[in-house]
Amino acid sequence: MCFGTSSGKLSQLAHYGPIGAIILIIWITISGYHCLIQWFPPDIKDPLSIINFLIYWIWPVVIFYNYFRAIFVGPGFVPKGWRPANKEHEKYLQYCNVCDGFKAPRAHHCKKCGRCVMKLDHHCPWINTCTGHFNHANFCWFMFYAIFGCTHALLMLCPCIYRALFAQYYIYARIKNVPIIHFTFTGLISCILSIGLALGVIFAVGFLLVVQLRSIMRNQTGIESWILRKARDRDYRRVKTFIYPYDLGFKQNLRQVFDWAQTFNVIGDGLTWPVCDGADEYALTREQLDQKRDKRQRTVRYEVVKSYKGSFITLSYGLRTCICIPCTDETRIPLEKGDYVLVTRWERCWMYGERVSANEMNNKKDDTNKSDKRQHRPRGWFPRCCAYEAFKIEDLWSGKLDPNSDIVAAQFSNFGPEGYDDVEEEGNNNVQNEDNHVEEIIPTTTTSTPSKKLKQRKVRQEN
Ligand SMILES: [Zn+2]
Ligand SMILES: [Zn+2]
Repeated sequence: MCFGTSSGKLSQLAHYGPIGAIILIIWITISGYHCLIQWFPPDIKDPLSIINFLIYWIWPVVIFYNYFRAIFVGPGFVPKGWRPANKEHEKYLQYCNVCDGFKAPRAHHCKKCGRCVMKLDHHCPWINTCTGHFNHANFCWFMFYAIFGCTHALLMLCPCIYRALFAQYYIYARIKNVPIIHFTFTGLISCILSIGLALGVIFAVGFLLVVQLRSIMRNQTGIESWILRKARDRDYRRVKTFIYPYDLGFKQNLRQVFDWAQTFNVIGDGLTWPVCDGADEYALTREQLDQKRDKRQRTVRYEVVKSYKGSFITLSYGLRTCICIPCTDETRIPLEKGDYVLVTRWERCWMYGERVSANEMNNKKDDTNKSDKRQHRPRGWFPRCCAYEAFKIEDLWSGKLDPNSDIVAAQFSNFGPEGYDDVEEEGNNNVQNEDNHVEEIIPTTTTSTPSKKLKQRKVRQEN
């Protein structure tokens, strides 16, 4: 079993996320403490002030404890070269070429960590690693205590600043038993800034915590919710609706992450998972493979007619292309005239796809008998005007295109896009679907003729 982060060293902290988070926590704590000792200092005669003082210092301890555990324990990575115990089950799993092993159920590859992560939820820049199986509980406890710590700091900061600003009033009115508070200009600015930061943490982290708790109660990570939404869209094709296998009921789902009976941490090894009645442990991975196959079938091949350097400013492609950019942080791909793009998403002025260089196309034609493993192809957005649709299925049906022509061969050969998992997947030619029928996926080798593949496609459409 493999725990920990990619490095598992202190260097994990040398990143803007952890540095920013640590400075933020220290800043708010010290500003709040500065106010606490002026406004409500610990006094041996006043037990409440002692309790307040102690609780105030408990927050940074529990916050940092959970924060560092979330970083250094890490999400848990699937061991490199991992295979299921039963060789027969390999056909239900996706293969990760980067990690050179199968992806365990609920594991996904993270490009930033460079590994397959157990029960991947998301890659969090604030901890500079993924949130996954082994650090899920610590990540949630960290957010929970951060909200309370910031609220406590706010309760110290706000009244203290109020009294500092109206200090003259308290002096002239001779109000007794009210501490007179003095701030330097820098101290005042720093405390006001802390109020803003603490409010920001409460709202942002509060929202994230609600999202996380909802996902834990459903036992559904963000990626799994997305797969499930697509599975619901596919339900109309099946006799039985898809059963999400990991939902064991609200209480058991919560216990899987916060095992209150024993360690207050996660249960399980991150590779095998308990499933509900009516489902088996590969129900979701089979559904993923089916969805990936659907995606391949929806792909449209475009030919690049105008080069694109991958820049963000695209005035030379028209004002509309320059303004109507896709609202995402996904990358842009540079294109050369003559390349092909396997497009899976369309927007008014932009398209998203996987680039197949002209060289790869030529090599493929010359070299059909060699290993069929796909090279890693860049994916991203590019201006729509740079490419035109090289293959139209209607042309094939209407007889405009010869089923045995090169263009059809290229469309149906090994040019399906990679999955949403950011790695190449190959080698899963048979997938058992939800109705327990073994269905053959379009073979990804180039040995089958296009017309044969066409027939397979037609048969599926008729079904
Ligand atoms: Zn991987
Ligand atoms: Zn990651």
